[in-house]
Amino acid sequence: MKRITEAYINGELTSIEGTEIFDLINPTNHEKIGEVVLGDQRDIRKAIAAAKKAFKTFSKTSVEERIEILENLKKAVERRESELIETMILEYGGTRQFCTASFQNMVGAFEQMIETLRHFEFERKAGKTLVQMTPIGVIGIITPWNSSNSFICSKLATAVAAGCTVVVKPSEMSALQTQLIIECFHEAGLPKGLFNLVNGLGSVAGNEIVNHPDIAKISFTGSTQTGKMIAKGAVETMKRVTLELGGKSPNIILDDADFKQAVPQAVYGAYMNSGQACIAPTRLLVPYSRLQEVNELAKETVRHVVVGDPANENTNVGPMVSEKQYERVQSYIRLGIEEGADLLTGGLGKPGGLDKGNFAKATIFTNVRNNMRIAQEEIFGPVLSIIPYENEEEAISIANDTSYGLAAYVTSSDENRAVRVASQIEAGRVCINGFKHDPLAPFGGFKQSGIGREFGAFGLEEYLEPKSILV
Ligand code: NAD
Repeated sequence: MKRITEAYINGELTSIEGTEIFDLINPTNHEKIGEVVLGDQRDIRKAIAAAKKAFKTFSKTSVEERIEILENLKKAVERRESELIETMILEYGGTRQFCTASFQNMVGAFEQMIETLRHFEFERKAGKTLVQMTPIGVIGIITPWNSSNSFICSKLATAVAAGCTVVVKPSEMSALQTQLIIECFHEAGLPKGLFNLVNGLGSVAGNEIVNHPDIAKISFTGSTQTGKMIAKGAVETMKRVTLELGGKSPNIILDDADFKQAVPQAVYGAYMNSGQACIAPTRLLVPYSRLQEVNELAKETVRHVVVGDPANENTNVGPMVSEKQYERVQSYIRLGIEEGADLLTGGLGKPGGLDKGNFAKATIFTNVRNNMRIAQEEIFGPVLSIIPYENEEEAISIANDTSYGLAAYVTSSDENRAVRVASQIEAGRVCINGFKHDPLAPFGGFKQSGIGREFGAFGLEEYLEPKSILV
């Protein structure tokens, strides 16, 4: 069992002033695997002071120096591949498949910023005026528990590229993972004070980041509810915010698609990271005339979905991160039944033989109406809603009838038709014919899925202030 009692401040491990202790519980079997002493306002203030001091020199570094730091960070992460993956599986119950992809995203986060920096123009002309893109200042980074380290890597990579320094407050449920990432970044030989990390609760440590006048910007990934609180608090000191929030992504299968391929893909997609993924395609929109066929294909697919030990190579659905999250999923399954949706497969309770951990059944509701709460609210578990539509126009209208707008998916045998449909969907990212990822493409949400973009040049600009110099 690991006991974490230190924060990483000004290039060294520092005893935490806070006294509250948080237990780290393995979601697969409920065994205690560690505990973390939570930092409070005093620890955050120390970290901010270190980052503020470091900003003075780091903001003046050249692009070449920043590229060298990013390359060192990438190598340091690559060296710890297996430990990073195993710790993710242990601590939050992510499946081996998902945690491996998540590790690749960590490495990719540094690669895409190195590539972006090679072409980025920090000085431009607007009319006759010189515009300098200047680093904003100290960035407060607040991350959720799902893929904690990949969010830290992508946000830190952007900050380094921009010439900013950071204070990270990860989810308290990720302390083992973040302890490892501290070791990686320390080995990379970062300038002192560039990267600081303090474990703590959102209401205490997170809140201090939101209120502190020396934080210039907050880069947040988490729920829409918390994002709104952060934006409200940030406005007091006019902090900039990038908010990557929740989603309820539609997945439209058009009538000309290959259903035998598209439906299984849709089911596995919805169960991505055991359904605990912001971009999971949780609303499957299918032609009304093909509903019966879709139901049969979906049910058959679930027969092959492996729910169980996340460390196992073949597992598709692992446990929910916490008992609280398990209960939340159960409450939504109960709600779906009460709302009158047809339970196609799965349902309440734990799958047979998995009564120890936070395992939920791979569940599908069909004949769901889009105004039901199970179709409108983010469940964050392995629960898919199949919603029938009459025609293409109605499919687009249902897809857009949500307060979210993070991701969307369209499947068709006609690429031009799919692009035409995609361009009418209100979402920051639309994937055609399966899940796609381009690390240089901007990522972020329309509507209540967030503010701002991450990755590539669009992401970098969010950490810079344009300054016009008129001669
Ligand atoms: P959460 O909103 O509960 O917590 C996220 C972080 O915010 C944690 O570090 C938490 O401690 C902190 N926090 C909580 N209250 C705070 C406050 N008052 N002030 C400052 N910080 C505070 O989210 P979660 O349960 O950890 O993660 C799941 C959510 O994250 C889902 O809604 C999911 O869709 C979203 N998410 C979004 C993306 C994206 O890229 N858009 C990616 C992954 C997850």
